Amino acid sequence: MKRDLKKIQSTVFDLLIIGGGITGACLAHDAALRGLRLALVEKNDFGMSTSAASSKLLHGGIRYLQKLQFGKVRESARERTYFQVIAPHLTTSIPFLVPTIRGSVMKGRAALLVGMNLYRAICTGLNGLVSDPAKKVEFGTFFTRNKVLKQVPMLAAIDGLSGAHTLYESHMHNSERMTLAFIKSAVHNGSLAANHVEVKRLISDDQRITGVHCRDTLSGEEFQLSAKVVVNAAGPFLPGINSQIDSLKLFKETTGFSKGVHIVVSQLEAKYALALSSGKKTEGLVTRGGRHIFMIPWRGRTLIGTTNVPFKDELDKVRVTRKDIVEFIQDINAIVPGLSLAENDVHYAFAGLYPLISDEIKSDTYQGTGEYQVVDHSEQGGPAGIVSVMGAKYTTARAIAEQAVDLIGSKIALPDPRCRTASVPLFEGRVASLEQFIADKQQQYRDILTPQTVHDLIVSHGSEIDTVVSYCQNTPGYLDKLSDERETLAGEVAYAVEHEMACTLDDVVFARTGLGTIGHPGVEVLNKVVDIIGPLLAWDEQRIEREIEAVERRYQWRD
Ligand SMILES: Cc1cc2nc3c(=O)[nH]c(=O)nc-3n(C[C@H](O)[C@H](O)[C@H](O)COP(=O)(O)OP(=O)(O)OC[C@H]3O[C@@H](n4cnc5c(N)ncnc54)[C@H](O)[C@@H]3O)c2cc1C
Repeated sequence: MKRDLKKIQSTVFDLLIIGGGITGACLAHDAALRGLRLALVEKNDFGMSTSAASSKLLHGGIRYLQKLQFGKVRESARERTYFQVIAPHLTTSIPFLVPTIRGSVMKGRAALLVGMNLYRAICTGLNGLVSDPAKKVEFGTFFTRNKVLKQVPMLAAIDGLSGAHTLYESHMHNSERMTLAFIKSAVHNGSLAANHVEVKRLISDDQRITGVHCRDTLSGEEFQLSAKVVVNAAGPFLPGINSQIDSLKLFKETTGFSKGVHIVVSQLEAKYALALSSGKKTEGLVTRGGRHIFMIPWRGRTLIGTTNVPFKDELDKVRVTRKDIVEFIQDINAIVPGLSLAENDVHYAFAGLYPLISDEIKSDTYQGTGEYQVVDHSEQGGPAGIVSVMGAKYTTARAIAEQAVDLIGSKIALPDPRCRTASVPLFEGRVASLEQFIADKQQQYRDILTPQTVHDLIVSHGSEIDTVVSYCQNTPGYLDKLSDERETLAGEVAYAVEHEMACTLDDVVFARTGLGTIGHPGVEVLNKVVDIIGPLLAWDEQRIEREIEAVERRYQWRD
């Protein structure tokens, strides 16, 4: 996958997608499979905005039961299933423990059992879509208080705990690579994509959007791109781009944003994820309800999310502050007394924005609404040639993309009208049985790589492992790990630059390899990465300094 801006500028596209988050990535994959000539441009790196800041859950949608939104439950559960089929290497099944509380009606055992049974009924038949037995989603069971405490002793601190129900969800090893995997598939099917290209404005001609004016944020070069249809999939930035034309309105306008912060701490519990709630109410600029938190075992650490606080700054300035961390830790310690988390326990933290369509910020804003929007502006009194696609969940991005490409098909002829994204594996996801595939590759590479390294290569690169290993075999030292604490190979960082369009140190450390997303990898490791990729990208000393500074900024809440 090459960043070829000359080629992009010299092509007239059927479709131009603004934004390389999961929504834009799914759109690109779908439209490419249906034969459209398309380009996707992303102003930062692919998947590094909201899509990287999520809890990385592919939710089955059980929360929608509370509002009796059975269709939404089924949709989420179905989409979660499709991810198992098309990207088996990047998903893993994880049991959540959902505590039951003595004396509470809504959090009591009876209510939870009714909910779980209803959920099971709504999910009927979905596992039949998955051929790999290890990838079928299991249904949970009830644990008594004693059994819960045997498994997770720290839950003894939960007031009134009477037991827990397990609920299996799907979790992503690496949501950045999941987004990338969709884009790589689109590129494999003939599309063009470029990161670090920002759309500065829409170009219109006689009541029609005909293209976009862009800026290469690496070189400063400006240029224009033309397309029959432009799709705005810029997530929180979508309304800002549309605002240059009065008539480009969403069905439900964004009224503001809420910031969600996650922290990554040393592993608190290896087997179970926890879904915990508190009755605490907080008055902010707007009213917040009781907090829900998830504690999820993730890559040898625990991922805890999320805060939910009003965000009023410029969108590009979203970042984690020390105040976020301190307040979040206080909340967590109040929910699980005795845990005694401290600031120093935080290895990494990241923030993303929930677009709001109501002035009230609820503690479960995104799970509660889950409302995505596909807007054909020409049908709403706006110009032709532009469609806006506002995502609501990572989990349902494939489904929104399907709806959007169907809509685009009513404007321009689709060479193949069928949507196949629910069943055709992603380019890296061509794995029939994940366990068997891992075992086979561990055997094949037993003389050169440890079983753990092979495992980690597969959960990053899936069926492309052979391509990556043979690339590494061509250069001495590329099969070596960068450090004892991380499985990443020296060659993987070079591969990221030469074959996966990584353009900055940040792209390599956070988006392609995940070296930095479980904590600072260490100065020595950063220097090793720079030594490998600096020459490939022709960096001088000043540039290297800037690149390292940019990576360090991600950890600066600590200062
Ligand atoms: C804290 C938090 C936790 C969440 N957890 C979950 C979860 O566990 N499971 C789940 O299903 N969902 C979750 N969600 C929701 C989910 O993350 C989002 O719905 C989804 O990632 C949105 O994807 P997107 O592609 O629409 O937006 P984004 O990921 O924000 O992508 C939009 C892209 O457009 C780019 N862009 C913006 N302006 C321009 C421009 N001018 N030119 C070019 N590119 C541009 C941006 O850089 C960005 O990469 C969570 C959301 C938050 C905030």
